[in-house]
Parts: sequence; structure tokens; C-alpha cells
Amino acid sequence: MTRKVDSGGKLVVVSGPSGVGKSTVDREVIKRTGAVYSVSATTRSPRDGEVDGADYHFVDRAAFEQMIQRGEMLEWAEVFGNFYGTPAEAVQKAVESGKVVLLEIDIQGGLQVHEKMPDATFVLIAPPNEDELARRLKGRDTEDEKSFCRRFGKAKEELKTATESGIYTNVVVNDDLESTIQKVVTIVNG
Ligand code: 5GP
Repeated sequence: MTRKVDSGGKLVVVSGPSGVGKSTVDREVIKRTGAVYSVSATTRSPRDGEVDGADYHFVDRAAFEQMIQRGEMLEWAEVFGNFYGTPAEAVQKAVESGKVVLLEIDIQGGLQVHEKMPDATFVLIAPPNEDELARRLKGRDTEDEKSFCRRFGKAKEELKTATESGIYTNVVVNDDLESTIQKVVTIVNG
């Protein structure tokens, strides 16, 4: 069992390649379970509609590097030239107070969390197949051709790494949104 006997809190790491629909799934899972979303820090610029402190803590590179040096990150990774990381303190406090905390992070980050907290629950949201992944990535109107190729390449690589690592013991294939949400809700509540 991944639930900590002392507090009842637990950590759930959700990973999956971009385009797989994990943010949509996670948003709904949080609504239905009351899990707490871990707000990551990032050096990338906010997209339209993103709110500082809710979607991400938007910081500059110097501030991010300081957080690493001070040992404040549970994990961090560089993705497409930007840094992303999970501030450890908020996660630790929430878990200690009995909350279920959901981390939506990439596979590199998932591997680091596994090193530190092997008892966490690891969930991989996977596409039904490569063609469908390509279709979903192409469907994003923000993707130009170069960006598509880069993301598709990384997505395939991530799926391979995740599968080979063996840490993602919960693999949920997102072929139907509602059933994917229900499966992740069951894992989070489990
Ligand atoms: P986006 O820029 O599209 O919001 O996120 C790009 C990638 O970074 C996604 O795969 C997302 O899951 C990942 N990511 C977001 N926050 C974190 C984090 O704190 N740590 C790690 N390792 N990856 C993150």
C-alpha cells in the first residue's frame, strides 16, 4: 500500500507524453477526489489564460537555479529548453496533513521521485497507439511542423523510458476520456 500509515496522505505521480490528454484527466480527477494539485515552478513563459501560482509558479532562471541549490526541489527537469520542478515543501506539508497530492510531471521527474519516494503511486497515461498520438499532437493548433516533430519524438521516447523503467505500475490507456478519468480516480482513491 502506498498510503502512509501516520497521516493518511499519499503522493500520486501522473506522467504521460504531451498530447495524451493528461491535464484534462488530472483536472477532472482533482475535482472528483479532492486531491491537491502540486503547483510546479517553471522558467517558461505563461500561456494565455495561465495563472501564476495556480497553473505554475512562473520564475526566472536565476530563481529556479537558487531553488535547486537550496535543495528545495523534490525533482526537476529540463524540457524543451525550459526548467520545470516540484517545490518539495508544499508537497511534504500536504502529504503530512493527510492529503492526496497529485504531481503532473514528466518521466524524468517521475524517475527522480521514485528514487526518493518509492512508495508513491506512479500512473502513466498512454495513448492508444502512435498514430492516435500523432493525430492528437497535430490537432493542437499551437503546433507548427517543427514543434510537432520535436514533441512527437519526445513523446515516443518518453513512453519507451517509462515502460522500460518499470516504475509506472499503473498504465491507463486514454482511448475514452470518461473511462480514463474513472480509472485514475480509482487509483487515487485506492
Ligand atoms: P507544459 O509546458 O506543456 O505545461 O509542460 C511540458 C512538460 O513538462 C509536460 O510533460 C509536463 O508534465 C512537464 N512538467 C510540468 N511540471 C513539471 C515538474 O514540476 N517537473 C517535471 N519533471 N516535469 C514537469
